[in-house]
Amino acid sequence: MPKQSIEVGKRPRFCNLCGQPLVGGYLRHGDGVICCLTCYANRSHCVRCGAPLDDAALARTRAGASDSPWLCTHCFRSAPRCAACHRPIVAVSYTFEDLSETRPHRYCESCVKTRPRCDVCRVPVAPDVVPLDDGQYRCALCAAQMVREPQQVEAIYREALAAFSQIVGSPLRVTPRLEIVTRLQMGTIRRSHHTMVPGSEEGSGGHHILGFFVRHDAACSIYIERCLPRSVLLGTLAHELAHAWQSEYAPQVQDLLVCEGFAEWAAHHVLVASGQRTMAARATRREDVYGRGLRLYLTTERKKGRDAVLRLASGDRA
Ligand SMILES: [Zn+2]
Ligand SMILES: [Zn+2]
Ligand SMILES: [Zn+2]
Ligand SMILES: [Zn+2]
Ligand SMILES: [Zn+2]
Repeated sequence: MPKQSIEVGKRPRFCNLCGQPLVGGYLRHGDGVICCLTCYANRSHCVRCGAPLDDAALARTRAGASDSPWLCTHCFRSAPRCAACHRPIVAVSYTFEDLSETRPHRYCESCVKTRPRCDVCRVPVAPDVVPLDDGQYRCALCAAQMVREPQQVEAIYREALAAFSQIVGSPLRVTPRLEIVTRLQMGTIRRSHHTMVPGSEEGSGGHHILGFFVRHDAACSIYIERCLPRSVLLGTLAHELAHAWQSEYAPQVQDLLVCEGFAEWAAHHVLVASGQRTMAARATRREDVYGRGLRLYLTTERKKGRDAVLRLASGDRA
């Protein structure tokens, strides 16, 4: 009776957890672990898949931090890891607009609720991160490409200027003075100009928050926050240069969508020219006035060309 013998042969004889012979019912879990009903009833279970834990998983959990989740070996290996604390994420995970070149990193609920946040991209920072000397935090991704030295910031400003002139074709008559400031100083400067930044409440590190263009009579300045990641710095400088261009060529235009859309369009092209395609693409998905404005300009450019973009920025919506 070959069929019968195969079935008999397939029935497991021992519980993989306690090692006792199986009598009566048993359960087969996730990655094939066999478990007797006694073990199922008496052992702690994996908080992710519900499987009863084997001795190795129990020992690992007890050896870990007191808040280590109870996970079976399979889930311990396969669960996504929090990018801040590196522990497995067993329930809901959170993502942010971080600087990841691939897909955004994931963060656990505990880190999102309790850890200080990166002051550029808002992700929770890892436990070993120390704040900058002005109390600002940078996550690992932002810190990896942070531009600290004023000379380096100046060099990136020159890169942004060159790329911007190339893209718009009509150069600035007056090059704005660059002023590198702390976030605290930036807040003071904004308040002294009575400027509200739409979309800044949620604190995401958009180009519109980290820089600020000011014209005073004949001269003008771009204020930029210190210690920004390179790609954010470049995009922000391009954004503010576009506002400088508007102040020269179309000072009468006040429509937020037209103004901010042009600034984001300039930032988009400067980032693409510098090879920062992920960063450039991200801005196109925003749902606020910056994202909608950018899409308006990109569509105009695709359908009618770059001259139409400059006409739109100059207040001609036809
Ligand atoms: Zn057992
Ligand atoms: Zn599990
Ligand atoms: Zn975490
Ligand atoms: Zn960050
Ligand atoms: Zn702006």
